[in-house]
Amino acid sequence: MMKRWGDRLLEAEFDLDLVAGFDAKFKKEQDQLPFSKIFKKDTTKELLNEIRTKLDAGLGMRYFDKIRNQQTNPKYVKSLAMYETVLLGVVFMHVGAKIRSSDLSHLEGLVPQVEMSDGISIIDFTNGWREAGKIQFTVALREYKNGVPRNMLEPSCHVCGFTKTDIMFAPDLCGRCRRAAYCSSNCQKKAWPTHKLLCGFSGV
Ligand SMILES: [Zn+2]
Ligand SMILES: [Zn+2]
Repeated sequence: MMKRWGDRLLEAEFDLDLVAGFDAKFKKEQDQLPFSKIFKKDTTKELLNEIRTKLDAGLGMRYFDKIRNQQTNPKYVKSLAMYETVLLGVVFMHVGAKIRSSDLSHLEGLVPQVEMSDGISIIDFTNGWREAGKIQFTVALREYKNGVPRNMLEPSCHVCGFTKTDIMFAPDLCGRCRRAAYCSSNCQKKAWPTHKLLCGFSGV
């Protein structure tokens, strides 16, 4: 399994591998869902709708219970179990599935606990996200409405977390590294003192 290098959620192999791993994790469920296909470029709306229907029909609750239970099971690394819960939340938002209010508050509570890396280290064994991913997730959760898919692959502002869905236009990429995205020059200015350390650094 590769470690992360992208700044936002799902930009790293690490995140995509964890989501694809749900296929095996839930294989005992009667209605297996093709988690590994959800974030592929050629995935159709029909497939996402099909997944949402099945999650809303009861599978979703069972999946959340199962993934949340990993956090208290000594068989699992707790930091990884927490991040897997976050990624299950990302899947639910992407397809527009219903998130129970208890799961929603659980996800909100995980935000300050998930491990975060600065993105500077070459070898990164963090079981979590980078700041841009944390902001992206926080805003996505806050803006999420059950039943309305929120495209989690859309670029989000590294500072305020907004995407085209929120502000009607896509945040611009940093002209130098084409990696960080900002919705305004104001956000870009705010980020520069820390971004200048990373700008141009492509990671591994
Ligand atoms: Zn912004
Ligand atoms: Zn840059």
